[in-house]
Amino acid sequence: MGKYTNTRPDWVPEHHDGKFTTSVMSGIDGVKDTTVGNLNPNLAQGARPKMRGMLSVEEYVKGVAEGNRMVLSRAITLIESNSPRHFPKAQRVLQALLPRTGKALRIGITGVPGAGKSTMIEAFGNMLCDAGHRVAVLTVDPTSSVTKGSILGDKTRMGTLSRRENAFIRPSPAGGTLGGVARKSRETMLLCEAAGYDVILIETVGVGQSETTVRSMVDFFLLVVLTGAGDELQGIKKGIMELADAIVINKADGDNLLKAKVARGEYERMIEFLRPATPGWQTHAYLVSAVKKTGLSELWDIIRLFEKTTKENGAFRKRREGQLLDWMNSMIDEHLHNLFFDDPVILGRMPEVRDAVLSGAISPSQGVAELIHIFDVHRAADRHVDLLHPDR
Ligand code: GDP
Repeated sequence: MGKYTNTRPDWVPEHHDGKFTTSVMSGIDGVKDTTVGNLNPNLAQGARPKMRGMLSVEEYVKGVAEGNRMVLSRAITLIESNSPRHFPKAQRVLQALLPRTGKALRIGITGVPGAGKSTMIEAFGNMLCDAGHRVAVLTVDPTSSVTKGSILGDKTRMGTLSRRENAFIRPSPAGGTLGGVARKSRETMLLCEAAGYDVILIETVGVGQSETTVRSMVDFFLLVVLTGAGDELQGIKKGIMELADAIVINKADGDNLLKAKVARGEYERMIEFLRPATPGWQTHAYLVSAVKKTGLSELWDIIRLFEKTTKENGAFRKRREGQLLDWMNSMIDEHLHNLFFDDPVILGRMPEVRDAVLSGAISPSQGVAELIHIFDVHRAADRHVDLLHPDR
């Protein structure tokens, strides 16, 4: 059934009663926040907040707006919760903080495992912190799960960056579909912006559609590659290069420097044949050594130039607007789909219609027409009953 499944989308709380959308803004006071804390080493046991009980919406909002990392971390945990009890509260927190969002530069980073992403993010993040920026690092990793571990999250990563006052590192929410992970990461990004982080780095690996998903939530997208373009290219999925606003050839140091320069030429030649990822911006390949910390300030200059160029030519705003609408549309899409496939009347009639299609008694189009008609009538009847009995 492709991307459609018979299950609840991740942005809908588990065990919802189908009315969650109308309860979003009504809120639930006194929801007990029993969720777990951040994995940020900054929040090592000794530094963990004593407030294990609930926070009110106002406390979450105030704490995040003041840049309090412990409260930010707990607010993220709240929005990551799949509990229907937490959903309205999380949305109220988000709603209150929305005016404070949108000002950060959002940068996506992808590359195969071992390309040096975390080493690079650590060096790059430290450099930005030194320059007075506040840097939030998020990961989008659909393989992340509470029990199975993940590609990105298992190692102890970015040790020095995580200890910085100006940095905030949050691993991927665990479990769920990529759509669910993406919804949570998008909202986490907004919370980080509201907390005053002005550079958001979102890291992902090439699993499923994760690169495309991260591309759809960032302004600038960076592809980290290694030398030996011939072999390396095999590992890069077709189309990923077309998403990139810059290609960084990492590990351009020591004996590898010469090979890196050759690789850069090869990538440059390939880029020429690609559509630009961003209108009015020419993607190029750059050399970086995350270990030697070379090429990083040049990379930041490129990103700033990209920001300036795309803000001037309107591509920046256009992309953000498109991303917001796409995000909303995909949630509507998923919600309507689930409304249909979770509908008890549809579930009841589906086998009969499927059999009719399989036996050739009706065409698939007729089968669809039949089911949609049943759905329409049934939903209309529901609405009718609701009007007569508004309390139900
Ligand atoms: P990730 O899986 O993409 O996050 O890659 P890592 O950051 O974990 O790096 C994989 C390996 O490459 C580690 O052993 C790093 O020390 C090494 N590495 C990363 N960047 C560089 C670099 O610029 N130069 C060299 N020589 N090694 C690097």
